[in-house]
Amino acid sequence: MVRLTCECLNVNIHSKTPNLVTADVANLGLNETLQKEIKYSELAEVQLDLEGISQEHPCLLKKKTVGHWTTYECVNCGLLTHAVNTASRSNRILVNKKLLRDATAIESLMQSPDYSPLYNIVLKGVNDNQHRFTPFGLQSSKYESLQETLTAVQQRLNQYLIQEEAAMEERIRKYQEEQRTQYAKLQSKARRDKNTLISSLLASEAKDLTESLTEAMVDDSSPENSVEASSLTESSSLEQDTRNQNKVSPVQQQDKKSQSNYQSHQLLQRTTSAPVRLQSNRSLDEVFELEGLDDDEDLPAFDESDDDTDNSMNEDQSDSSDRDSGIYSRSIPISVPMAFRTGKFSEREEEDVYKTAPDPEHMAASIKALALSVHEDGTEMFGDLPRPRHNTWGDHHRPHRSFRH
Ligand SMILES: [Zn+2]
Repeated sequence: MVRLTCECLNVNIHSKTPNLVTADVANLGLNETLQKEIKYSELAEVQLDLEGISQEHPCLLKKKTVGHWTTYECVNCGLLTHAVNTASRSNRILVNKKLLRDATAIESLMQSPDYSPLYNIVLKGVNDNQHRFTPFGLQSSKYESLQETLTAVQQRLNQYLIQEEAAMEERIRKYQEEQRTQYAKLQSKARRDKNTLISSLLASEAKDLTESLTEAMVDDSSPENSVEASSLTESSSLEQDTRNQNKVSPVQQQDKKSQSNYQSHQLLQRTTSAPVRLQSNRSLDEVFELEGLDDDEDLPAFDESDDDTDNSMNEDQSDSSDRDSGIYSRSIPISVPMAFRTGKFSEREEEDVYKTAPDPEHMAASIKALALSVHEDGTEMFGDLPRPRHNTWGDHHRPHRSFRH
């Protein structure tokens, strides 16, 4: 079967003959008038299939009968499509060889912009100017026929628009449903995301709170507090040292007036002078040894006696040629508080220095002096006069501390 169609797809002829063979018009009994009309066309004789001949719009098909032959022309595309012998009653007809039979070409026409889905034909070259019909007189019968045709065309348009509108509404409804479904999914996911985010935030906050509480509980018993406590004790000791320094400062100023030339040397020797001084006072050493380091009652008396001796000995030795002894007597009250004031040397270090003293007697004296310094003012303890023979020992051990001032 071959489908033959005019150029506007209005006339469709279904033929059993696959090939179009040019018919011998002269042998078909066509009269001359008809031959003249269709001489420009190459006609082929084909056998119609069961579907026969169909028209999308019969109103667009112009029929002309000459003798036993009736010719049909598509007024839309202006092509004489076929001719039928009314006398033979056979299914053999003449068709125009210009009819389209390529399925690809037909499909291409249906996809073209000129194709009308409403009327299922190609409305090529139609514009507003061509719609301006010049007034012409019509017979009453033709007018009615044309009017019916126009009405049918209008009705088809109306039906088409109604169908398309309904289809449009249906598409809109489906689209809305799809969009609402998508929005519902999006909304649900967005809320889940929000809850997830908030949960993460709250979990983080709860974790931080737990950690802070745990740290607080650990801090109560952690060694860091002990460190802080030790630092507090250090600071308190510093304060005490500062007080000691304040007490000594008048003495220091007096010393500077009298012995300014030997201050540096005094600083180097000040620590050694204390044990020397204690050793010199044998009666006090014996008291310390007998009563022990914990005895605090006799210490003030010892200091007072030392102060008295210090003053007398300082004057005596300053007048004499022995400058070293005079240096020690004045340097001692000054230097010891200064050493404590730096905060870098604890009492333990001072004690270590005394322990390293080569003379065991000096060690005992230094321990007693240390015990005294714990309970009494350090300036009083070191206010004694040293002996010259211990100078060299201090030179080796004290310089690195004296320069810190
Ligand atoms: Zn046509």
